[in-house]
Amino acid sequence: MEKIIFATKNKGKIKEINAILADMPVEVISMEDAGITVDVVEDGTTFEENALKKAVQIMEISGKMTLADDSGLEIDAMDKAPGVYSARFMGEDTPYPQKFEAIFEKLQNVADADRTARFVSCIAAAFPDGRTLVTQDTVEGMIGREVKGENGFGYDPIFYVTEKQKYMAELSPEEKNAISHRGKALQKMKLLLQKEF
Ligand code: IMP
Repeated sequence: MEKIIFATKNKGKIKEINAILADMPVEVISMEDAGITVDVVEDGTTFEENALKKAVQIMEISGKMTLADDSGLEIDAMDKAPGVYSARFMGEDTPYPQKFEAIFEKLQNVADADRTARFVSCIAAAFPDGRTLVTQDTVEGMIGREVKGENGFGYDPIFYVTEKQKYMAELSPEEKNAISHRGKALQKMKLLLQKEF
């Protein structure tokens, strides 16, 4: 079983990708499990730039094939902000309820039809021979006018998923993984990795 690294400190993401790649001859381990503690600076202006930067940098340190992701929320009426700055929007340590209030205020005069938004996820793979692969996917929705649901994280409680007619935070983890930006981008990456392993 070949060990590959997912350049994240988030155990939930390791679990999610191992579940998706369960029928492949690879085991995905975290940076921590690989003994790597560096912080990659996410200074790219696109999800792809950031995901590739993380994957390549950690591959170069570990010598192992490395996966990395970058994701965020694009709100059309805010010129696609917060986008790649989703985690840092209003400051990394600002509680999400405060971020929600600021978004509601910015969108207060925006009609329902123009409150379109999407979560974007980009997954990058870097191989020790220098090759890279990238996949990206989205889940489309609207910014609601209330905070709803207890599940998920980040902006899930204000993101109304059009195809489910529910807020993202109202979906179970299984329901979310099946339709989410990250779940779909990971499935696309799996199709590419099946040609490698
Ligand atoms: P990361 O690149 O996966 O760390 O995501 C960056 C930021 O985007 C997170 O800190 C969240 O603010 C936002 N984000 C990404 N994916 C999701 C999601 O599935 N739900 C809610 N917020 C998300």
